[in-house]
Amino acid sequence: MKVYDIAIVGAGAAGMTAALYALRAHKTVIIFEQTTFGGQIINTHKIENYPAAPSISGVDFAKNLKTQVESFGGEFEFSSAEKIDKTPEGFKIFTSDNKTFLSKTVILANGSAERRLGLDGEERLIGRGISYCATCDGGFFKDKIVAVYGGGNTALYSALYLANIAKTVFLIIRRDKFRAEPHLVKAAESTKNIEIVKNSIISSLSGDERLTAITLSVTDPKTSKKTERFLPLDGLFVSIGRVPNNEIFKNLVTLDEQGYIKSDESCQTSTPGVFCAGDTRAKTLHQLVTATSDGAVAATAAIEFLNSAQ
Ligand SMILES: Cc1cc2nc3c(=O)[nH]c(=O)nc-3n(C[C@H](O)[C@H](O)[C@H](O)COP(=O)(O)OP(=O)(O)OC[C@H]3O[C@@H](n4cnc5c(N)ncnc54)[C@H](O)[C@@H]3O)c2cc1C
Repeated sequence: MKVYDIAIVGAGAAGMTAALYALRAHKTVIIFEQTTFGGQIINTHKIENYPAAPSISGVDFAKNLKTQVESFGGEFEFSSAEKIDKTPEGFKIFTSDNKTFLSKTVILANGSAERRLGLDGEERLIGRGISYCATCDGGFFKDKIVAVYGGGNTALYSALYLANIAKTVFLIIRRDKFRAEPHLVKAAESTKNIEIVKNSIISSLSGDERLTAITLSVTDPKTSKKTERFLPLDGLFVSIGRVPNNEIFKNLVTLDEQGYIKSDESCQTSTPGVFCAGDTRAKTLHQLVTATSDGAVAATAAIEFLNSAQ
């Protein structure tokens, strides 16, 4: 069996940057990706905060990075890394299509996934009125009534994006204040077809074949009294944060209380030879620039690990 120098889990910004650094150092690299390359950033139509790349789309960013990785001979394996075992021969990676790969080091760059509501019917209604990505699915809701649930930047971007497509956008937040940046809040407040609904929690979902309505539990901020509001809808965009994809790696590396991978400054995890990068990593800022930065740092640490083992 071929033994790779570095196996990378995830072809998002962090994983592909790690691959770029490793390949340029003439290491053999395999990148596992369970869906399509690019990761989360492909869901944004405009990146405005990546240095020296003003207004690039997420898809173009991902395509450019993949082309760059391929130009140095990057090898992609489009399947999910289901399990990684540390063995005397190296790290064994077992994939969803029953293949096994062997590598001397591993970089976990598996990012994070959307946080679910955890309500009855949610799984059944995904793609049938419930979505976690406005830019992916917003186009299906032309002139319809939709809601966005969440008060952070992504929720506000989603509401503003959907306001150009849908007839009405309810922007539902749990508290009476947004976590999002003030300019986004201002933009939402001044958009005619965005109706802001504060102090409200989604308590149930209605609809068999498709989502037809949601029920809100609304708290009166003055009396703390709770009332119910039934809201008929065509679509619900859930934007209540993200959770790391680390359940399957908890026997390999140490996680923090939120499930993020603990690592040091050089992205070294609790297991020698296993590094992590990007949104999967416990750190204060989960953004594109820190994902690519981690990718570079993790690859450099893996290269040093390999060179010192020779
Ligand atoms: C809508 C949206 C807009 C955003 N806009 C911005 C912005 O404008 N500026 C900014 O700086 N940041 C933005 N972000 C955040 C930014 O996209 C992320 O911080 C960054 O892309 C994280 O990159 P990553 O490679 O660490 O993880 P991810 O992008 O999550 O990539 C991880 C990859 O690993 C794959 N994967 C997971 N588990 C496995 C497995 N077991 N086997 C194989 N593959 C696996 C996933 O499919 C995914 O492709 C945005 C995020 C979203 C959702």
